[in-house]
Amino acid sequence: MVTPRITPLPPDAWPPALRALLHASRQDGAGRENLFGTLAHHPPLAEAWLHLAQVLTHQGLLDARLRELAMLRTAHRLRSPYVRARHEGHARDLGVPPAAVAATAAADPGVYDWSAREAATLRAVDLLSVGTALPEALWHELAEMFTTPELLELLVLVGQCAMVCTTLNTLHTPGGGPTVRVDAERCCSAGQCVSTAPEVFAHDEDGLVTLVEERPAVTDRLRLAAALCPSGAIHLTAPAHLTAPARTTEGVPLS
Ligand code: SF4
Repeated sequence: MVTPRITPLPPDAWPPALRALLHASRQDGAGRENLFGTLAHHPPLAEAWLHLAQVLTHQGLLDARLRELAMLRTAHRLRSPYVRARHEGHARDLGVPPAAVAATAAADPGVYDWSAREAATLRAVDLLSVGTALPEALWHELAEMFTTPELLELLVLVGQCAMVCTTLNTLHTPGGGPTVRVDAERCCSAGQCVSTAPEVFAHDEDGLVTLVEERPAVTDRLRLAAALCPSGAIHLTAPAHLTAPARTTEGVPLS
């Protein structure tokens, strides 16, 4: 069980404006309520955060596919299972091929045949998401393909996504996606997990499965590895939910 550093407030303790924003947003289950419940400790900050997210989602100039790719890559770079899982779903809804989604979590995203705009964007995300300013050559490359407002939006989009990832990771806020657990006692060392998702699974000195990281992002490739395991040693567990049951609302993604 994850212990959050700041316990999310239950919805009935949220300020009205934040509750209204939740009702105007899409149903995203436990992760969304834990995120909003955490922000609810600081209502003015929560409103500002959510208004920025709404502008990026509703009034953004970047096309939706590019926006999702940038956020998937940011979430991968900053190791945010919550953001990664959310945007894998959004990307699927937009018809982004599974191979493209998986490539955003590759050590070198160049393994996929991106458009020139997408390839340049992903290279920019790799730098921006870790706080590195873009070098001249990449900036000029982007400036040839994007308008000035689009460039500005890309910088802010990656920064906003990085803010969400870093905040949730630092606070240990439970996300909306599943988490991964491995049962080494059941592992028969067949190795499908390691060959399918080497960024997540490894063999220990006894040849038994172990996690490369304590809290890996749950990606489509990780799900495939779990499905392929012949001994059922990989478990995807339901998300931790600290507040009220998930609700059904209509709207759009905010982070
Ligand atoms: S696929 Fe399953 S059995 Fe094979 S190494 Fe991985 S965890 Fe062990």
